[in-house]
Amino acid sequence: MHFTAEHDLFRRTVREFLAREISPHVDEWERDHSFPSHAVFAKLAEIGLLGLEYDPADGGQGADHWYTVIFGEELGRIPCGGVPMAIAVHTDMATPSLARFGSPELKQQYLAPALRGEMVCAVAVTEPNAGSDVAALETRAVRDGDDWVLNGSKLYITNGVQADWLCVLARTSNEGGYRGMSQIVVPASTPGFSVSRALLKLGNHSSDTAELSFVDARVPVSNTIGVIGRGFQQQMQQFQNERLIASYMAVGQCAYALERTLSYVRERRAFGKPLVEHQWIQYHLAELSAEIDLLRQYNYAAAEAYVAGADATRFATVAKLTAGRLVRKVADTCLQFHGGIGYMDETWTSRFFRDSRLLSIGGGVDEVMLSVLARLDGIVAD
Ligand SMILES: Cc1cc2nc3c(=O)[nH]c(=O)nc-3n(C[C@H](O)[C@H](O)[C@H](O)COP(=O)(O)OP(=O)(O)OC[C@H]3O[C@@H](n4cnc5c(N)ncnc54)[C@H](O)[C@@H]3O)c2cc1C
Repeated sequence: MHFTAEHDLFRRTVREFLAREISPHVDEWERDHSFPSHAVFAKLAEIGLLGLEYDPADGGQGADHWYTVIFGEELGRIPCGGVPMAIAVHTDMATPSLARFGSPELKQQYLAPALRGEMVCAVAVTEPNAGSDVAALETRAVRDGDDWVLNGSKLYITNGVQADWLCVLARTSNEGGYRGMSQIVVPASTPGFSVSRALLKLGNHSSDTAELSFVDARVPVSNTIGVIGRGFQQQMQQFQNERLIASYMAVGQCAYALERTLSYVRERRAFGKPLVEHQWIQYHLAELSAEIDLLRQYNYAAAEAYVAGADATRFATVAKLTAGRLVRKVADTCLQFHGGIGYMDETWTSRFFRDSRLLSIGGGVDEVMLSVLARLDGIVAD
C-alpha cells in the first residue's frame, strides 16, 4: 500500500549496500569503541543515503518519507546498535532543524557538506543538570555584537568526538524555563570548544559518546538556526524525527533478531528434537512476531500522518515508547533461546541485549514518553 516498486528496489539496494560495506566491519569497530564515521558517511553519501528527504537545492534527494521508513528498518539489520545510531543522529536527529529552519547560507555551509558526507554532525541538548527536563538546561550563549559567546557543557553526545559541527541548544535570554533558547550551529573547530572526554558505555560500543565543554566559544549570530528564542520549540519538532527513525530502526532490529533466532532454534536440538518443535518456543516467537508486526503497522500509520503534514507528536511518542520496550523484550527472549552460547561475547545476542537497553533512555526516557502521552490524552491537565 505504502511502497511502490521503486521503494522495494531501494530497500534491496540499501540492504545489499549495508551488508557489503558496513556489517562486515562491525566487530572490529565495536572492539575499537569507535568507527571511522567520515569514511563511512562518505560511502553512504555516494548513494544518496544521508539526505533522503532533504531539498535537492541543499544536496538532498527530495525523496518521500517512505524512503526514510525503509532506510530506518534496514539500518536495524546492521548487527550492532552503535553504527546505525550514529548514522541516524546525522540524518534524522542533528540535521532536521537546520533543513527546516536554517537560512540558505547556513544550509550551504553546514547542511550541504553533511549530506555529501564531508562533515559529521551531532545534536547537543543534554547537560549534566538537564536530561529529561530540557527546560532546565544551563548552557548559555550571550550576544556580543554579531557573535554568540557560549559557556557550559553537554553530556552523552553521540558523534561528539568525531563531529565537525553540533546543533547546540543553548539559553540566549534570561527568560528561564523553555523560553529564550536557541539552536546554534557550533563548528568543532571553534576556539573554546573541546571534547572533555569520550565516555565508555554498557552497549553501542562502536558509536562515540562525549562530554563537551564550551568556554567563551564564539560563533556568529548568523549561525542561529531559525528564530532566536524558539530553540526549544524547534528542538521538540526535531525530537519527532528522532523518535520516528528510532522506532523504524527498532522494527528492523527486532525482525532481524527473530530471523536469526529462528534459524538457531531450528538447528539446535534438546530432548530429542529441534528447539523449535517445543511448543513454548513456537508460541513465544509467534507472539514476538505479532508484536513486531503491530509496531511496524503503527510506524506506518505514524509515517502516514507525517506525510500528510499532521501533528505526529502522539504517534512518535507511542512508537518510541513501544519500540523501547519491545526491543528489550525481543533481545531478552533471543538470548534466552540461545542458552549459554547466547550469553557469550562471541554471539550476536549478547551485544543485542546490551545495545537494546538504550532505546528506553536515549531520545527521551520511557517516563517522559508517558508524561507527554498523559498530557496529550488529557489524563493530566496541560
Ligand atoms: C548512549 C547515549 C547517547 C545519547 N546521545 C545523546 C545525544 O546525541 N544528544 C543529546 O542531547 N543527548 C543524548 N543522550 C542523552 C539522553 O537523551 C538522556 O540521557 C535522556 O534524555 C535522559 O536524561 P538523563 O540521563 O539526564 O536522565 P534523568 O533526566 O536524570 O532521568 C533519570 C531517570 O529518572 C526518571 N524520570 C525522568 N523524568 C521523569 C518523569 N517526568 N517522571 C517519572 N520519572 C522520570 C526515569 O526513570 C529516568 O531514566 C544520550 C544518552 C545515552 C545514554
